[in-house]
Amino acid sequence: MLTIDGSVGEGGGQILRTTLSLSLIAQTPVRITSIRKGRARPGLMRQHLTSVQAAAAVGRAEVTGAAIGSQEIVFRPTAIVPGAHTFRVGSAGSTMLVLQTVLPALLRAPGPSSLTLEGGTHNPMAPPFDFLELAYLPLLRRMGTEVAATLVSPGFYPAGGGVARVEIAPAPALAPLELLERGEIRGRRVVATVSNLPRHVAMRELDAAAAVLGWAPECFRPSVLTGGHGPGNVVTIAVESEHVTEVFTGFGEKGVLAETVATKVAEEARDYLAAGVPVGEHLADQLLLPIALAGRGAIRTVRPSSHTTTHLDLLRNLLGIRASVEQISERAWHIEIGR
Ligand code: AMP
Repeated sequence: MLTIDGSVGEGGGQILRTTLSLSLIAQTPVRITSIRKGRARPGLMRQHLTSVQAAAAVGRAEVTGAAIGSQEIVFRPTAIVPGAHTFRVGSAGSTMLVLQTVLPALLRAPGPSSLTLEGGTHNPMAPPFDFLELAYLPLLRRMGTEVAATLVSPGFYPAGGGVARVEIAPAPALAPLELLERGEIRGRRVVATVSNLPRHVAMRELDAAAAVLGWAPECFRPSVLTGGHGPGNVVTIAVESEHVTEVFTGFGEKGVLAETVATKVAEEARDYLAAGVPVGEHLADQLLLPIALAGRGAIRTVRPSSHTTTHLDLLRNLLGIRASVEQISERAWHIEIGR
């Protein structure tokens, strides 16, 4: 049986999720060892366990080792089961990462799927819903898929309790994606969202982001939500260009100044703009798997993170693809995937 060492490179949850995705697609059993060994709390956390359970439901799989804290699982899929699935993360764990695990396989399923995802929709260290909706899914559609996502109610870290729905039509083959140019910038937006927190938190964040970005006042908007599940605070920056929309997110945390949260995410957006590339750090991460499944493609991006290079190594190893990463200017990199 194929064994994947979950501790290599960055040693995070991505190794687990991508391995599960590809095991489902190839319908081959896999053993994953040393899961998330590179993290402070290694092994399966709630959201990773939900990803394993979601993959098991979609793959009608037999699984051993699926428990909180487990550092080794064996996963044996027997099918790809489309249709209605509900996955509950049960805490503010990221529903978006659960989706990431099963989406590639459901695109290859014999029929359409309708997913209900319950838990966190806006979590640190995971793609938030807005990123999925505005940045990732439009590119996946460009690759020939029909995937639509709706945010029924947001679930902010740490309370969670959100709901998202995702409709997936089968797409037997993905078209290659080449994303080398950003094109003309068409829209810039900063939204500071507070859920059950004072409005001034959002206003201070908008001021701090404006100081970094220097955009016109109409680009900045507060969003004040009440009645949700617990407090939450997210700063979302969207840059809409001719060929791509990028989304950058900062998450408010207890003990971290609102200004610090906003400044950090604004600097990320500023650096992306200065690099002149279409793809930011996290979008690069998300695009690697679909491009590898398409067989070829290329993106221009900011300096690849260790997360991105670990993901690329895993895809080389599991899919036998060739991939090159080349620095093409001070701030721009070219990633090319081909057979
Ligand atoms: P891991 O840390 O290995 O569990 O992987 C986390 C995943 O979440 C990676 O695919 C990251 O690219 C993605 N991610 C983390 N933060 C963000 C963010 N702010 N926006 C979009 N994606 C993110």
